[in-house]
Amino acid sequence: MKRLALLVLSAYCLVLSFSGCATVPWLLPHVPRPTGTEPVGIDDGYNDYTGTLHVHSKPYSHDAYSPITRAIDVAQRQGLNYLLLTEHNNLRALRDGHEGMHGRTLVMIGEEVSTRAGHYIGLDITREPERDQPVQAIIDDINQQGGFGFIAHPYWKKSRWKDWNVTGFTGLEIYNTVHDAFEENLARVVGWAIAVPADTVYQSILDRPYDALSTWDRLLQHGKVVGIGGCDGHDHRFGDWKFAPYELVYMMVRTHLLAHELTKAALYDALRSGHCYVGMDIISDTTGFTFLAAKNRRVLAIMGDEVSFADGLTLHVYLPSPGRINLYKDGRIVAAAQQQQNWSYAVPEPGVYRVEVNHGTFPWIFSNPIYVRPAPPPTVTEQLSAPVKEVLKVPGEVLHTVSTAIDSAIKPPSSEAAAPAQASTTDDTTQPVSP
Ligand SMILES: [Zn+2]
Ligand SMILES: [Zn+2]
Repeated sequence: MKRLALLVLSAYCLVLSFSGCATVPWLLPHVPRPTGTEPVGIDDGYNDYTGTLHVHSKPYSHDAYSPITRAIDVAQRQGLNYLLLTEHNNLRALRDGHEGMHGRTLVMIGEEVSTRAGHYIGLDITREPERDQPVQAIIDDINQQGGFGFIAHPYWKKSRWKDWNVTGFTGLEIYNTVHDAFEENLARVVGWAIAVPADTVYQSILDRPYDALSTWDRLLQHGKVVGIGGCDGHDHRFGDWKFAPYELVYMMVRTHLLAHELTKAALYDALRSGHCYVGMDIISDTTGFTFLAAKNRRVLAIMGDEVSFADGLTLHVYLPSPGRINLYKDGRIVAAAQQQQNWSYAVPEPGVYRVEVNHGTFPWIFSNPIYVRPAPPPTVTEQLSAPVKEVLKVPGEVLHTVSTAIDSAIKPPSSEAAAPAQASTTDDTTQPVSP
């Protein structure tokens, strides 16, 4: 009997810890974060559009608790630039005309498809894919419509992703709030709920998603894969008690999109290309985070881009407030900096570079990678047009076709001749760095 009472008390406390219960309003302080579209710090030329994706609402998702009007209203009140709804297995909200600008918030509508392999988020589509077919056919159907997609919550026990042999997907959720919340250490949450406000309880739920990140790092060795953060908001409620309300889950994880304008085409392009990062904005506003590659003060790549390796190539990180920066290359930490806001790293070799930032003990920011590829060997034309001294720096002996003048200048191998070639980039989207 004593044990039962304890269980009931624990359950009650647990519900309170997640609740927006009207009888304990101090548990749910709603603190909308300021959001901006102006780039801060190093100017990469992009606007930072803050929003949240993977949201469910009534009547379109069977397990959502609140109407779509409330889902949109909360996004507007929080000043979000975009809200991306992904209802279960239907696009009816699209056909009902909910997509478009609602005040200053751009509402976009995709679909979370329940496949045999797990849940898959299809975006930029106008027709629901047939679900009773292999997952690869569903991914292909979405792509053939001109859409694209992401594997949702790949390691949530209730709906793990089962088929990593699929191709054609754009990326995966490296973080999903429902997954993280449901696999929390419940005893800790129950204990804290008695004494701390909701913001703090929800912050305590945040964990580094080890499984998803290690799979992401493995996939990145084979090509471009975009990482996003899904809030998976349902506005859960038990009776009058709110459990994971939109107000809190919208803040827990936000996927910031780097684009030039607030349009559906531009934001979907940012998602496709990995011009985005994941921010736990409930810890502290992440707007303005920057991760780019530059050389001679010219921006050559932002998150999601490929760039050719070259001597003098430098990665720059800017944080909106100080944090601990961990730089990963091919899945391993190669450099770190404590309590920095502006930080640079001279790239020593090609690799897939991404950044994680901690704020105190909390995971805070996950960048998408910059792909530093090996420099392509110079063509014969480039060799011919290069100054003689540069030609001599090119390793290898493929100089038989060069002019007599250059031929006569070739000397026996020396330390200078063995030096690595100076790579050049052909990226014509370069922009100057302003410090
Ligand atoms: Zn799901
Ligand atoms: Zn969902």
